[in-house]
Amino acid sequence: MSNAAPALTHLAPMATRASRLAAARTDYAASESIKAEVRDLNFFYGQRQALKNVNLPIPERTVTALIGPSGCGKSTLLRCFNRMHDLYPGNRYEGEIVLQPSGLNILSPQVDPMEMRLRTGMVFQKPNPFPKSIFDNVAYGLRLRFVRQRSILQERVEKALRAAALWDEVKDRLHHSAVKLSGGQQQRLCVARALATDPEILLLDEPTSALDPIATSKIEDMIFALKEEVTILIVTHNMEQAARVADFTGFMYLGALVEHGATSQIFQTPKNQLTEKYLTGSFG
Ligand code: ADP
Repeated sequence: MSNAAPALTHLAPMATRASRLAAARTDYAASESIKAEVRDLNFFYGQRQALKNVNLPIPERTVTALIGPSGCGKSTLLRCFNRMHDLYPGNRYEGEIVLQPSGLNILSPQVDPMEMRLRTGMVFQKPNPFPKSIFDNVAYGLRLRFVRQRSILQERVEKALRAAALWDEVKDRLHHSAVKLSGGQQQRLCVARALATDPEILLLDEPTSALDPIATSKIEDMIFALKEEVTILIVTHNMEQAARVADFTGFMYLGALVEHGATSQIFQTPKNQLTEKYLTGSFG
């Protein structure tokens, strides 16, 4: 008996993790295939823990929204997906984010963060086009991948601009400066730039927070169409936006993922009191 105790102690966390993930999956329609899985993720800015034991499946070709009060870890979680935190010393991950079907753990030290940034395109709150032409912005990631043939570049740039619902507005001025576009157009250009390298996941960090309502609704329409092609993870401070665009929603609080599931379930019948309080405006 005395020999059995250490072995059981060792196995217990693994069993717990497996059952947690299995439980998480049952919340989702059986037909959904999973594009990525966050497993027991902790993240530290130096000594400060910003994510606490996060487990989240991301169904393929759907939109998953992260909601919650400011400072609860939404952007921190999103940035783990493209290894943004590696750019600063002292940051530390524990756990895994596994891409499917390859089984690649994004957080593995063997994975090149630069490559990961091309495989998981990211769009930030404020549009940040490069001070180059519209064409060169979208072609940027392709050139980093040594795509040089003009006809292929043209084809891929057009495809990305069409997917970002911007082609018709810019097709006659592809060689004009990107910074002359309106804010909403710039943000759709940033989406096109992220899409050009065929990312496995598109990460959107409050993509409409700097935009007016018309530009916002264009981005939301684009997100809706885009999920046919790509899996999307979006951080939004706007609950109505999550309800409009997301198939699945996760509610975060103080670095933990309190609850996640189909958006309709989260908004209509939240299981956790904290989620309910947040959604009814009791805090946040
Ligand atoms: P949210 O996106 O939900 O507003 P964040 O992920 O930006 O929250 O922040 C989560 C927590 O991590 C907050 O307490 C924030 O102050 C802290 N934090 C964010 N960025 C850094 C950083 N670069 N260094 C140290 N702490 C940070």
